[in-house]
Amino acid sequence: MRVKKRSKHRKTVKFYATCFGFREPYKVLIDGTFIHHLLTHRLLPADDALRTLLSASRTPSLFTSKCVLAELRRLGKSHAEAFDAAQLLAVTKCEHDKVVSAVSCFISLIGDKNPEHFFVATQDADLREKLREVPGVPVIYGLKNSLFIEQPSVQQRKFAQLDEEKRLNMDISEYKNLLRAASEGKTDASEKGCDGGQHERPMSSLVKNALGVADKSKYKRNRAKGPNPLSCKKKRPKPQSAIQNQGATADGEAKRKRVRKRKRGQKDTDNQAETAS
Ligand SMILES: [Zn+2]
Repeated sequence: MRVKKRSKHRKTVKFYATCFGFREPYKVLIDGTFIHHLLTHRLLPADDALRTLLSASRTPSLFTSKCVLAELRRLGKSHAEAFDAAQLLAVTKCEHDKVVSAVSCFISLIGDKNPEHFFVATQDADLREKLREVPGVPVIYGLKNSLFIEQPSVQQRKFAQLDEEKRLNMDISEYKNLLRAASEGKTDASEKGCDGGQHERPMSSLVKNALGVADKSKYKRNRAKGPNPLSCKKKRPKPQSAIQNQGATADGEAKRKRVRKRKRGQKDTDNQAETAS
């Protein structure tokens, strides 16, 4: 049973980590009722108990608020031990100049999105019920001498699902914007044509990309462009054919003859000129 419970808690923590970005060291916001429970059931040291509950590798940071301290002090002697223990915790800043009840203080601290990623530890049933409606607020409570994390409520699960869809949609629109920017930058018609093809990419591949799965076509295989040069004989220079050679020599001879004739003609005319003079 104990192993089953722990794995259930681990799953819940993982849900908040993946859907709402909770990261270690976790922050736990503790109210007076929970401190009182920890003390009466001797669940001490509290940070160790919470660390095992959250299956965390690092000790979580424990917080309380000024309003909680004021409430514990007001309760007098019956909660003196709880007040002393609460004073050892870090005090998170709240906006209440005039002290309010711990419930309304925590609700204002959490807001509508729990930006500080607090786990809220409380025994107050009203507060727990109110927090179930806020997305991204894991609630810790105690039953006798064991601690529990509430399973994410239906609203929280729905919100996480919606959020995931939003993220996917945003990725697709971003992707389209990128494509548009790329096609505007290019002047080559063929490249534009290529982009047009990409616009019509199937939805499934976009979803895969959003999930970080690489496109297969991205990795093109280098195919051989010819036979392996190491397994071929070296190319030998082609021996010129005899006929070509003959033709070449015949051509050369004819040229030479023509030149000789011209030179001879020149010489003759020179001689004639000399004799004439
Ligand atoms: Zn406050």
